[in-house]
Amino acid sequence: MCAQPHDPGHHGRMKIYLVGGAVRDRLLGLPAGDRDFVVVGETPESMAAAGFRPVGRDFPVFLHPDSGEEHALARTERKTAPGYRGFVVHADPSVTLEQDLERRDFTINAIAETPDGTLVDPFDGQRDIEQRVLRHVGPAFIEDPLRVLRAARFMARFAPLGFSVAPETLELMRTMAASGELDALVPERIWQELAKALAAPRPSAFLQTLRQAHGLAAILPEVDALYGVPQRAEYHPEIDTGIHQELVSDMAAQLAPGDGVIGFAALTHDLGKALTPESKWPRHIGHEQAGLKPLEGLCERLKVPNAHRELARMACREHLNVHRTLELRDATVHDLLARCDAFRKPERIEALVTVCEADRRGRLGFEDAAYPQGAELMRLHAAALAVSARDAVREGMTGPAIGRALRKARIDAIATTRSTP
Ligand code: ATP
Ligand code: MG
Repeated sequence: MCAQPHDPGHHGRMKIYLVGGAVRDRLLGLPAGDRDFVVVGETPESMAAAGFRPVGRDFPVFLHPDSGEEHALARTERKTAPGYRGFVVHADPSVTLEQDLERRDFTINAIAETPDGTLVDPFDGQRDIEQRVLRHVGPAFIEDPLRVLRAARFMARFAPLGFSVAPETLELMRTMAASGELDALVPERIWQELAKALAAPRPSAFLQTLRQAHGLAAILPEVDALYGVPQRAEYHPEIDTGIHQELVSDMAAQLAPGDGVIGFAALTHDLGKALTPESKWPRHIGHEQAGLKPLEGLCERLKVPNAHRELARMACREHLNVHRTLELRDATVHDLLARCDAFRKPERIEALVTVCEADRRGRLGFEDAAYPQGAELMRLHAAALAVSARDAVREGMTGPAIGRALRKARIDAIATTRSTP
């Protein structure tokens, strides 16, 4: 027997539709993610009676008793106050499927599917999927500034498939950015969307889309400030630091697909270049140290998780040192590893090396360049890590002497390894 596209099981008499990302991604031929359902003609009471568990705080959403998948009652929303929370939600059994689809952000997200696989598509989402257009559903689009960020992060995911933002949608996004409403977005929501963009195949499309909407300065001023800052053409044929930034982010997404921790460090490793006085352009001496402060500011504002912060700090501070691995003295390699806490947290070095490789290859014309520094730093790290305290430390040694002996033994291991290719 052939399984139905989605099987409502013993809730067969309820009007349940698959909606949103799951329908869109299937039509795009992408692997299935979370499934969201909308239910028409029910009430919270009838849902509870059918065994669904309520979870929504702001609007009526329920979990299916067996699958745990989200089922929302069909609803309309009316804007009553600024910000993305300023909505009055209206969900009662008279709200139709079409009304529910009309409140959605993009036409490609406003397609519903019945249990027997029939598509309900009042806004021509299928046409926009075929033509690769991200288009808003209707004029209510401007009511929620979060949609500007959602547009940008969908572009990070779908630009490689050929998508672009419809000109009239971009126009609305500009209106929203110009109104100052992006300032009303809470840090958690910004981080959620940024994190998704960094885990997508083309993070640069997130930055470009926000810039085109004139909204990047409100969301990520530290990154926006990199555009228009020149670098030395011998090393950076792309010259503009903002362009370099985009290339590095996309290279990181290519080297570590889906890894937002590496993606965030790649995004922020050069923030210091925005602080170089113009009189010193196109050089950026000391930009590594200079970048730590704007990085800290960004992380505090968006409440960035610790794992992201730590790798980002390390990459910001050390990326030039990693590039110079082949020239550094043995003791300097050791101290670089020690500053990264690489003897207690060895997994860090591979991540750091990946960010640095993305930095090197994230330059115009260097996309396929080799990065032997990366493999070498990992090899030296492995050698130093293999030194056992038991072998390094002699009888009777105390505190500081133990530390010195261990450091010396690790430096010796690095030296020996370097002389054996
Ligand atoms: P993903 O694959 O990332 O889950 P998605 O399109 O499913 O993408 P969700 O955040 O899961 O996105 O939202 C599910 C659906 O709800 C969307 O497809 C869209 O129809 C609607 N939606 C979500 N957030 C908004 C919003 N801020 N404004 C309008 N519609 C929204
Ligand atoms: Mg979804």
